[in-house]
Amino acid sequence: MADQFAVIGLGRFGLSIAKKLYESGRDVLGVDVNEERADEAQNYVTHSVIADSTDPEALKSIGIRNFDTVIVAIGNDIQASILSVLLLKELGVNKVIAKALNKLHGEVLKKVGADWVVFPERDMGIRVAHQLISPKVLNFIELSKDYSVEEVKIPEKMTDKTLRELDLRAKYNLSVIAIRHHDDIFISPSPDKIIDHGDVLVVIGENRDLERFANLE
Ligand code: ATP
Repeated sequence: MADQFAVIGLGRFGLSIAKKLYESGRDVLGVDVNEERADEAQNYVTHSVIADSTDPEALKSIGIRNFDTVIVAIGNDIQASILSVLLLKELGVNKVIAKALNKLHGEVLKKVGADWVVFPERDMGIRVAHQLISPKVLNFIELSKDYSVEEVKIPEKMTDKTLRELDLRAKYNLSVIAIRHHDDIFISPSPDKIIDHGDVLVVIGENRDLERFANLE
């Protein structure tokens, strides 16, 4: 069933995924081997059940193969996380997303068939460091090792000028793909657009150029 999700492991990570999906109107089945965790989650998901995802019969009995996407949010028990992914793929679940504690864990999850492996602690650590290095960067997406899209608070000295005057492409090798002005967003802004105080530019470019721009006073 498309748009139907199952989240296995209802700790902080799994529950926050489950809650967000449910709040966005998706059907979410919560699964945890721990009764208390499954009970607690009841208010935040469509339905939650107690089951051990390392047990193939348990997975079958909850009809897991009917879910298009299953998130394995078990972390500390690496063996259980790997076995769960393996079983889910064997049972024919289309998309399995799994949380990894470290690089090796992630590699094994991929080998047993995980379609997407996430590293929440590592990624959050990188985001925090990034924020410390470039406090003006509100958000970023890494496109590759060297290129990113960033939301950058406009330096004060650049305000009240048009994009043409700022000429970020020539000066910083960056392209402005959008401007956020309070709650409004201007996609592909015209070169005549004047940048206001407090505006946020969404820029794309090479990381070293982005860092230079984001650290302007
Ligand atoms: P988080 O870091 O997300 O808060 P946690 O620290 O509670 O998680 P984890 O080991 O990552 O610990 O476990 C997440 C959840 O996964 C727990 O609620 C745990 O009961 C559940 N869990 C562990 N093994 C299984 C399993 N085999 N089947 C189903 N749920 C499991």
